[in-house]
Amino acid sequence: MSQLDRRNFLKLSTATLIGVTMGGTSLRVFAEEQVKLDDPLAVAMKYVHKSTVEGSTCSNCMQIKGDAKAEWRPCNIFPGKLVNNNGWCAAWVKAA
Ligand code: SF4
Repeated sequence: MSQLDRRNFLKLSTATLIGVTMGGTSLRVFAEEQVKLDDPLAVAMKYVHKSTVEGSTCSNCMQIKGDAKAEWRPCNIFPGKLVNNNGWCAAWVKAA
């Protein structure tokens, strides 16, 4: 391998490595799953997928994040998990 070839090879390897690392990061970001009702935190917070508390749902809670039109959304209380827009838990606080 000539000096020039080696330099190009190293450049390519570095770019590939960065690409793979970033690819892994974005995969982790999107690897959110719906919170399970038997999740210990869900049990502790009395989380349900469908609220029985009139006027209180995840969709109007200050802890909900993400796209308001999505059925499942991230919540500050359940990191890395998604809660149902119609759900509820004991940490519900009316969004301002
Ligand atoms: S804190 Fe509870 S009620 Fe509020 S969005 Fe999260 S799961 Fe829903």
